[in-house]
Amino acid sequence: MRILKEYIFEGRVSKEDKNSSDYKYVLFKVPKKAGILQISYNYSKGDNVLDIGVFDSKGSFRGWSGSNKSELFISENAATPGYLHGKIYPGSWKIILGLYKISQEGCRYTIKVRIGGINRELQKRKIIRPFKQEYAETPKKRWFKGDLHVHTNHSDGAKSIRDLVNEAMTIGLNFVALTDHNTISQNLHVEEYESSDFLLIPAEEVTTYYGHANVWGNRKWIDFRRRSMEDFQELIDEVHSQGLLFSINHPEDMNFPDGYWRFREVSRFDCIEVWHGPWSIYDYRSLIWWDSLLQKGKKIVAVGGSDFHGTDLPRLGNPTTWVYSDMLSVNNILNAIRRGHVFISRYVNGPQIYLYADADGDGRVDSICGDEVHLSRGDKLTIYAEVKKAKDLEFKLISRGETVKIEKVNSSYYRVAYRTQVENDGYFRAEVIRHNSQESDNAEISEVLALTNPIYVRVKKQKNERNIDSF
Ligand SMILES: [Zn+2]
Ligand SMILES: [Zn+2]
Repeated sequence: MRILKEYIFEGRVSKEDKNSSDYKYVLFKVPKKAGILQISYNYSKGDNVLDIGVFDSKGSFRGWSGSNKSELFISENAATPGYLHGKIYPGSWKIILGLYKISQEGCRYTIKVRIGGINRELQKRKIIRPFKQEYAETPKKRWFKGDLHVHTNHSDGAKSIRDLVNEAMTIGLNFVALTDHNTISQNLHVEEYESSDFLLIPAEEVTTYYGHANVWGNRKWIDFRRRSMEDFQELIDEVHSQGLLFSINHPEDMNFPDGYWRFREVSRFDCIEVWHGPWSIYDYRSLIWWDSLLQKGKKIVAVGGSDFHGTDLPRLGNPTTWVYSDMLSVNNILNAIRRGHVFISRYVNGPQIYLYADADGDGRVDSICGDEVHLSRGDKLTIYAEVKKAKDLEFKLISRGETVKIEKVNSSYYRVAYRTQVENDGYFRAEVIRHNSQESDNAEISEVLALTNPIYVRVKKQKNERNIDSF
């Protein structure tokens, strides 16, 4: 490689810098006829974590690697996973340093930038095709099984997309969302793996220092540089203006400082990841938060995600999110999720709950989880559940924060019916649980092995009735 220009930047960031902004920018000039950038950095370790990313001279996002990679390159036709290949425009480029954790003593850093001429070898590599609108199609409506939260080597995951797809297909998943942290280079590859029974969903885990959220379906980069409540509301509205879905991830997770969702007052988000990886006390808390929102009359879809990072294979598909859709395409799966046609199970072939309602009393079901039934006060309503692969576990039906029915499941195919008379707005949702033994560390919590989204009950207002909020 012919070197056109080299830079070394040395500097320091302090605790005060972090207090005034989460980001610091380092600018450098790219000369004409550049074909490749190589960037490496290091910083004083200890309690410091310094993330890195790049914007080009047109102000466009060119990638992010958190603190996961200490070296990266971007050229016309290839780039380190996590970064977007493309023209190396002349002009002023920016390195963004993310001040994730800065110790009292501050953090010293060194960044090296090497800018090379056009590299003929790299130019010969194949050019990645642009996105197509739709993916694999299947003829009839059915339940598809997926993992909505997975990382690859485009962020801090250990597996390439190819290896991930092989693993996912081997265990029987139908779709996987590529939720790499703060970048979209993984989404350039979704088409390469399309087939009639497997789908990759383009995505991004918007990873801020104040909570994480999945955006599914995005072609364009979603800017993660947010720190206030207003920033987060703006982010949610921006995501919606692009027709995408916004899901708050692991809202109660206290395992890492930025994982807990700080801004509970934001509104209009679509989903909550109530089940994050193997069931834990944090999921139990997320479930309580979600249910409290349902009790306030909100309609928010519960989803699961494994947060698989490629090293702990049994984690892939644990949990699995089941989605009832016409077709295995990005738009259809996301629309079905938006409608709440979703239940979650511990494994790809774990316990399943198919929840139905018969709202008109004709003995046939007319609604599934996620649907609203509109009834008058005093009308009869029957909720049915078909429960599979849950022998010896417990089935629970929950309405407005209360368990209204609990039964031991005594066969691998089990049916339950619950009849009620409608008085107020509300919802019915179901769980399959196992009580932990006395010896367990979490003796006080029951472990959830499957859970559904609710069937919502909306009571029609009488003509002369005032508009009273039932909750
Ligand atoms: Zn996360
Ligand atoms: Zn994640």
